[in-house]
Amino acid sequence: MMNLSDAHNHLASSRLAPHLPQIFADLAAAGITHAVVNGTDETDWLEVARLAATRSMVIPSYGLHPWDVGNRSPAWFDSLRQHLVADPRAAVGEIGLDRWMLDLARSDDPRLAGLRRAPLDEQLSTFTTQLALATELHRPVTVHCIDAFGLLLETLQAAQREQRLPPRFLLHAYSGAGELVKPFADLGAYFSFNAAYLAPRHVRLREVFQLVPRDRLLVETDAPAMQAPTAYAPFSLPAGPDGLRPNHPANLAAAYAGLAELRQEPLEILASNIAENFRRLFEAKSTEASP
Ligand SMILES: [Zn+2]
Repeated sequence: MMNLSDAHNHLASSRLAPHLPQIFADLAAAGITHAVVNGTDETDWLEVARLAATRSMVIPSYGLHPWDVGNRSPAWFDSLRQHLVADPRAAVGEIGLDRWMLDLARSDDPRLAGLRRAPLDEQLSTFTTQLALATELHRPVTVHCIDAFGLLLETLQAAQREQRLPPRFLLHAYSGAGELVKPFADLGAYFSFNAAYLAPRHVRLREVFQLVPRDRLLVETDAPAMQAPTAYAPFSLPAGPDGLRPNHPANLAAAYAGLAELRQEPLEILASNIAENFRRLFEAKSTEASP
């Protein structure tokens, strides 16, 4: 059986909590051996740490998500540093920039309920602070970016000049232009494919993922967020109190199959390339330490 790795999800989300025993059984049955479980705010980090302590497939990741920047407490940075120092396997993320939230999101979007929407300069300073922390602690970073790719590229280039950019980082659910793949890759970017991009309307993003170099490619679910078309979502979960149906992280296997079709590569070769990429990005220290 192939070993599949979810480069980005939120297994510690309260939306998945009632279903976790079934979810972990489904993940094991589907051959999913690793998952980078991202925290997004100060309370979420505690849940990520709890899960990482009990489930060996979990690689914990801690970061302040741009949607949560506006509600951060004065203690956020000390708390983030403590979580990272406490676990040498831990990565930094999900952090980033989001202009969609400011310009296009509806005022009653349930995913943003109760959140103060931080303006871009506030998102930017929180993002660069976390990049610098990741560099100091030698951790990989996972970046969220929606509708701010020009600014992201400039920010990462400046961070690299100032030696405040880790050598490897993930652009999760990359939705930028094809022309930006090379400049981001030159800075050390990896790109994770989400099966939501297999929906008919995402023609442009499917073209982009044909361009991503094979040594920079990863696959993710972002579960419970994002939903793949039904043909690529064999696992389902009931709707929560918010009325939204959470994405099931075992749908990762179908995302691998969809990406293999898209790139016209044999699934087993693609999976073995991705396993190597995943180790290089998220487990480099343990790899270096082994003979
Ligand atoms: Zn996410």
